[in-house]
Amino acid sequence: MNRASDLTALEHRYGAHNYHPLPVVLAEGEGAWVTDTEGNRYLDWLAAYSALNFGHRHPRLVAAAKAQLDRLTLASRAFRTDALGPFLSALAELCGKDAVLPMNTGAEAVETAIKAARKWGYTRKGVAAGNARIAVFDGNFHGRTTTIVGFSSDPDSREGFGPFAGGFDSVPYGDIDALGAAIGPDTVAVLIEPVQGEAGVIVPPAGYLRAVREACDANGVLMIADEIQSGLARTGHTFACDREQVVPDVYLLGKALGGGIVPVSAVAADREVMDVFTPGTHGSTFGGNPLAAAVGTEVVAMLATGEWQARALELGEHLEGALTGIEGVDEVRVCGLWAGIDLAAGGPTAREVCERAARMGLLCKETHDRTVRVAPPLVIEPDEIDRGVAILEQAIGG
Ligand SMILES: *Cc1c(COP(=O)(O)O)cnc(C)c1O
Repeated sequence: MNRASDLTALEHRYGAHNYHPLPVVLAEGEGAWVTDTEGNRYLDWLAAYSALNFGHRHPRLVAAAKAQLDRLTLASRAFRTDALGPFLSALAELCGKDAVLPMNTGAEAVETAIKAARKWGYTRKGVAAGNARIAVFDGNFHGRTTTIVGFSSDPDSREGFGPFAGGFDSVPYGDIDALGAAIGPDTVAVLIEPVQGEAGVIVPPAGYLRAVREACDANGVLMIADEIQSGLARTGHTFACDREQVVPDVYLLGKALGGGIVPVSAVAADREVMDVFTPGTHGSTFGGNPLAAAVGTEVVAMLATGEWQARALELGEHLEGALTGIEGVDEVRVCGLWAGIDLAAGGPTAREVCERAARMGLLCKETHDRTVRVAPPLVIEPDEIDRGVAILEQAIGG
């Protein structure tokens, strides 16, 4: 037995089996590369589901974290800290919103927005107590809490975990008439991923986000954009909503906001929505902690110049070119440096392709049976994209 198999056995023996990881045991990471316990190197094309947009251990982010580690790491929100204000103001400015509420995980940001939208509906829109409804979309992924999985359309996410919270109406993604029909007088919000990541990088038809915005405006409904995976430069823009110049009422951010170092999530909105929260109505012990704030502030500073967004756009075009015409592929959807690759029926499954690719030095992850989702860190170089696509091609072909 080598060290990797010992560690695999240990993890399996003592861990819950809620994941089915690829058979690699990683020990180090730098930029777009990771190294396993045996010293094998891999290109990381999952980038922790876009939490590693800036790559592994980006020097600026590590420096910001280290500096903060030497001063103050946690205080709780019972006290103010010198790290929080600068983070909130920088992120509010990046979002073009009045205010930011910091949490930790993406699911918590979604839960926070659900609470905000309901209370906004009762106090500002005049919806009768207990009646607020939120429109969501088939194929959505917003996290793993009981409320959130309650409106998932994925049976594995739901089964055995009920009873679920009511008040959600799910409609087909990309169908504006279906959304219009689902919005009623008690609808307080539409919760949408501007690109559905887990569903397989599903990009809605052109004009759709704009139409969603218009439907929200026409009905006095909040548009909540879950940009936890699509936001912060992944699609070649700060937000995927920018692709259609759409400004939602509420942005939900997470993943890359933590710089690949710590969990940081946030809700950004204008005062009319944010001020539904008053002391005691919402909170989090770790939300907005100094370490998270320091890293988040540096992430925002990096994004403020636009260079990462431009890089994602450019590299995305390169990726799209490289992926074009690969055999054994039915459809490729590319959005910035992010792609869903649907494998043709009769060939290997997405899981098999990911396992083969891993053996050849490329890490990516299946989503559903026949889709491989790739999201390389934005620090990747064009020749590394070519190298990864060559491996994928080989993995699909044989
Ligand atoms: C990952 C993700 C979440 C949940 O984030 P966690 O940090 O895993 O709780 C929510 N929404 C979207 C779109 C995501 O991709």
